Amino acid sequence: MTKLVIPEPKKTLIPIHGSDEFFPVRRVYCIGRNYAAHTIEMGFDPDKEPPFFFQKNTDNIDTSGQFPYPPESSDVHYELELVVALNKGGSNIKEEDAYDHIYGFGIGLDMTRRDLQGVCKKMGRPWEIGKAFERSAPMGSLTPMSEVGKMESGSIQLKVNDEVRQDGDLDMMLWKIPEQIAILSKFYDITAGDLIMTGTPAGVGPIVKGDKLVGTIDGLQTLSVEVV
Ligand code: MN
Repeated sequence: MTKLVIPEPKKTLIPIHGSDEFFPVRRVYCIGRNYAAHTIEMGFDPDKEPPFFFQKNTDNIDTSGQFPYPPESSDVHYELELVVALNKGGSNIKEEDAYDHIYGFGIGLDMTRRDLQGVCKKMGRPWEIGKAFERSAPMGSLTPMSEVGKMESGSIQLKVNDEVRQDGDLDMMLWKIPEQIAILSKFYDITAGDLIMTGTPAGVGPIVKGDKLVGTIDGLQTLSVEVV
């Protein structure tokens, strides 16, 4: 047996809906600006942008239903996103083979310290401090693709305190799920256990303590998160 000099860090597990099983997470890839209206609201041209990806830390995932307002920011935004969970890896995966690599889907929030991200953008620095902080990826349970299908279309909606703030359709993604897998796998050896957060529709905005966020995507388990 391997002897460890410190206790083993906790594994990140996401529950599977309607089961006592869990999905163990390896990496969390996130695509930026993947819905035209959101790209425009962030001040960019959706016709000119090739896709780009960043990562959150695996242990930023939080399934507790609570999001503690993070330190060192006064402009924290929600971004509701479809989460794709991979059950097979590879590199240079063809678009037509991409769905063979998907276990299932869930709902996630790409919580963002927008003020810190803005400083990073302006100064040409990496984004991590704005994107990959403690508990910055609230997530609900996963549903297998065998139950829910390919998720090529369907409503994606976020309510804050019962008011609709984000209201889109999965078919509005600029880069579709197979394209995202194909492109990611050119740059990385993607692996079973990897997640892809597939981008957010328009309507992102700030939160305050006490807000109740409810994210829905057709066919998936609702994600409810309270800002504490
Ligand atoms: Mn995002």
